Amino acid sequence: MVVPLSFGIVRLMPSSLIKLPRTINPLYLYTRVPLSIFRNGSIRFGPIFQASLHSSSTRDSRPAQVSFDQSEIVFIGTGTSEGIPRVSCLTNPNKTCPVCFKAAEPGSRNKRLNTSLLVRLPRPLGECNILIDAGKFFYHSALRWFPAYGIRTIDAVIITHSHADAIGGLDDLRDWTNNVQPSVPIYTALRDFEVMNKTHYYLVDKSGVTPGAAVSDLQFNIIQEEPFLVHDLQFIPLPVWHGRGYRSLGFRFGNICYISDVSEIPEDTYPLLENCGILILDALRPDRSSSTHFGLPKALEEVRKIRPKRTLFTGMMHLMDHDEVNSNLVKLKETEGLDVQLSYDGLRVPVSL
Ligand SMILES: [Zn+2]
Ligand SMILES: [Zn+2]
Repeated sequence: MVVPLSFGIVRLMPSSLIKLPRTINPLYLYTRVPLSIFRNGSIRFGPIFQASLHSSSTRDSRPAQVSFDQSEIVFIGTGTSEGIPRVSCLTNPNKTCPVCFKAAEPGSRNKRLNTSLLVRLPRPLGECNILIDAGKFFYHSALRWFPAYGIRTIDAVIITHSHADAIGGLDDLRDWTNNVQPSVPIYTALRDFEVMNKTHYYLVDKSGVTPGAAVSDLQFNIIQEEPFLVHDLQFIPLPVWHGRGYRSLGFRFGNICYISDVSEIPEDTYPLLENCGILILDALRPDRSSSTHFGLPKALEEVRKIRPKRTLFTGMMHLMDHDEVNSNLVKLKETEGLDVQLSYDGLRVPVSL
């Protein structure tokens, strides 16, 4: 299927303010005119920003690391907003939650931090790392997996939606932009950018930051619900509902479809899921859906409808015991030919991109 490419851009520019009304006509962004939107509602025009694949300083600072010539996805986090184990379960005198106690043991696959995925692409000048979401626990996830897997740079971050478990780690990117690379391009829908403009106002408009304070240097790129390129890899947004009236984006890249936060898939999105090789899908709890997330029964219903070659569930809460649920899911291969499993933090899957 040929899909037209549209690419709106927001970039902060240091001069030439043009005041426009607070309300921004979304159609304006379809003109491909580069914009900068500020907290006071003003907009600046500036030259088109293209995120560089790798800055020279990035390459220079790259240490010897594990080399690989195969693309892969790494599950940086596969859990709910509060993380697993829950503190409240570990402090409960009645010890009613076996999964959280298991999760507290070293190496447990029940230990899950905020949902996030890293796409690693081999490139002639070094690997390119594209992160989907950086939530509240991003620092802790990165601490766990980046050194272990030899991951150095963050060459882009794509945002699914603006809940805290998807954007809460934007401040943590300061370690990269201060010590690894000049900046991190962020790809986000306008509605989520507007949220960041409140939650992370000092990263959107750095004019109020105390001189010398080394906050994250982020470059915001506004995406539409149309395909866009990040470092030559095409991402197709998969618009879904994440609670009534609240939009979240999944993303398709190659034959991989990633939908981390969903309560309903609109009919228009299903054609984008055809011929899916790996489906990564939200499955919050074993028994039922919530108002904002698929439960396992609904997620399996969607798998039967979408028919991917392989499915890995993500976004699991503490009621989902990794081994127990997976031992039940594996039976579906025999009975229905479905290859479905729970993912886990740190899971690496080689892919062709
Ligand atoms: Zn628990
Ligand atoms: Zn959410």
